[in-house]
Amino acid sequence: MSGPLRIALAKGRLYQPAVARFAAAGIVIDPEPGRRLLIPSSDPAIEFLVVKPADVAVYVESGAADLGVTGTDVLRESEADVLEPLDLGFGACRLVVASPAAQPFPALPGGKTARVATKYPNLAWQHFARGGRPVEIIAVHGSVEVAPLLGLAHWIVDLVDTGNTLRANGLTERETILTVGAVLVANRASQKLKLEQHLRLMSRLG
Ligand code: AMP
Repeated sequence: MSGPLRIALAKGRLYQPAVARFAAAGIVIDPEPGRRLLIPSSDPAIEFLVVKPADVAVYVESGAADLGVTGTDVLRESEADVLEPLDLGFGACRLVVASPAAQPFPALPGGKTARVATKYPNLAWQHFARGGRPVEIIAVHGSVEVAPLLGLAHWIVDLVDTGNTLRANGLTERETILTVGAVLVANRASQKLKLEQHLRLMSRLG
């Protein structure tokens, strides 16, 4: 674990705000990385790695990356053992339980057990288990909001920002499970071995 600090960034919604945040700290990422997966920055002591959102915590926990930028939704879902030294203040949204607006909630007709479609099976399961409510979790990888319309599930657990996607699919937000935002995560061993570099980065971003 020597050499430059390697920072894993998530593709998708958090990518541009993360790049802007590093740029504001004077760490400018090559805007044309082409097919390179390790991307240099204007600071020779810092390089970036762009991975799928769910993989950021995996790379950081394993030490393949020293640090990463991830949403607390995928971080809590993964239960990765990483440090969270900085709340980055962007990517705010919430993980909620939603169900068809026209249907009563939480009781289903006939006392049926609810089927819940989600990309977050662990967080959803924990939420209902905490409340002592039996549900059947259906893990999917996308298009969660359409699951109740298609009869795949009665309810969903998904991220909501403006609520427009829920409304467009006839769904209403019922319960909040987690408030979500982007955080900087760090590998435990890296923070000890490269303490100076971590502290310098933190003071530039903070
Ligand atoms: P909205 O219509 O603004 O409520 O956005 C909801 C859709 O965007 C859902 O499909 C969510 O999965 C997705 N979404 C909202 N916020 C985020 C976020 N911070 N990160 C990733 N996906 C998000």
